[in-house]
Amino acid sequence: MTQGLHSPVNLLDFDSSSLTEWCAQQGEKPFRAKQLLRWIHQSGEADFSAMTDLAKSLRQKLIESAEIRAPQVVSDHVSTDGTRKWLLDVGKGNAIESVFIPETRRGTLCISTQAGCAVNCSFCSTGKQGFNRNLTTGEIIGQLWWANNVLGAVAAEEIENGEHESDRVISNVVLMGMGEPLLNYDQVLPALRLMLDDNAYGLSKRRVTLSTSGVVPMMDRLRDDCPVALAVSLHASNDNLRDELVPLNRKYPLRELLSACERYLERAPRDFITFEYVMLDGVNDSDAHARELVALTRDISCKFNLIPFNPFPNSNLGRSPRDRIRAFGQILLDAGIVTTIRKTRGDDIDAACGQLAGEVKDRTRLSERSMKKRAIPIQTAKRVEDSHEGLI
Ligand code: SAH
Ligand code: SF4
Repeated sequence: MTQGLHSPVNLLDFDSSSLTEWCAQQGEKPFRAKQLLRWIHQSGEADFSAMTDLAKSLRQKLIESAEIRAPQVVSDHVSTDGTRKWLLDVGKGNAIESVFIPETRRGTLCISTQAGCAVNCSFCSTGKQGFNRNLTTGEIIGQLWWANNVLGAVAAEEIENGEHESDRVISNVVLMGMGEPLLNYDQVLPALRLMLDDNAYGLSKRRVTLSTSGVVPMMDRLRDDCPVALAVSLHASNDNLRDELVPLNRKYPLRELLSACERYLERAPRDFITFEYVMLDGVNDSDAHARELVALTRDISCKFNLIPFNPFPNSNLGRSPRDRIRAFGQILLDAGIVTTIRKTRGDDIDAACGQLAGEVKDRTRLSERSMKKRAIPIQTAKRVEDSHEGLI
């Protein structure tokens, strides 16, 4: 938090307590931190001179020493189903992606926590690109800040035209974009706190979901520090298979992972853990796998979300056929487990789960590619239904 003469401090990096501390260092009272949080996160203001209830001298000090800097948007795509994806530049040729998924009664923003990912799951495009770096708190919350501003402005226009009732467009946030959030805990935690803070985004813990591939010790820390809703990427019904699909399983095998889930439930805002399970044709999708899952999760309060695999170039894996997914889900349902199949949203713009790659290295090629994509006839519209997750 040291501040060099020429490098302004980015106020998006601070949650309430660190901003209060920073204000104290500047000789300012704690209520100034509250005012600043509201200006930044609720009004979406990036210009200190517009923060009219701050003393002029403080505004001047802020102009000289601080900034509000979200990652720069490189491209913005809207799917035929209304899903919107932003590619954001995080420097040195790295880019990340955020996806907004509008639904009838809610709007979900899916954000990234790392550029690339070290876990290297065999079915994930982000994993295939390797690990580049951790995002800062400012880059993580900056995705919400940006989307909230852009979507809020659209909604405000619609309210004027009577087409929309509220300017609260983002009702849910999921940490399910690029990266493993629990391997970037120190930067993710303040971002989560801002999401929940009444002076910032004021979301309830139930509406913020962190998805993890199963970093057991960090699940315990999250439980103690900021227990938001938890989704666990299970994907396999036994250790041999999971070792292959999610290599982190070799470090934290299923038995340890499930005990961590039970410990998490003691403080979780919902009384179940969501298990995500990507449906891979001929790999993890047999009736026997489903029965094994039922036995594996017998003692834990959980819900299953089956995710049809989203292919990406050179993945060498296939999506389970629709009927197979239904039959698999039916076995879980018959065992009394609430099971949903995730609707594929935004796959005409490569915004579906696991398709986020965030390349920006060759911008010319990227823009050619996106132009081609826009010209492709859209085949996804028929799949668009009301809900991101649909009961079978
Ligand atoms: N690293 C975290 C969060 C990001 S991935 C995690 O693994 O949980 C978010 C979800 O997308 C995970 O459940 C992940 O397994 C799933 N996913 C990854 N690649 C996918 C693909 N190609 N098709 C469908 N889902 C995928
Ligand atoms: Fe990383 Fe999650 Fe992709 Fe696995 S699925 S490589 S943990 S982002």
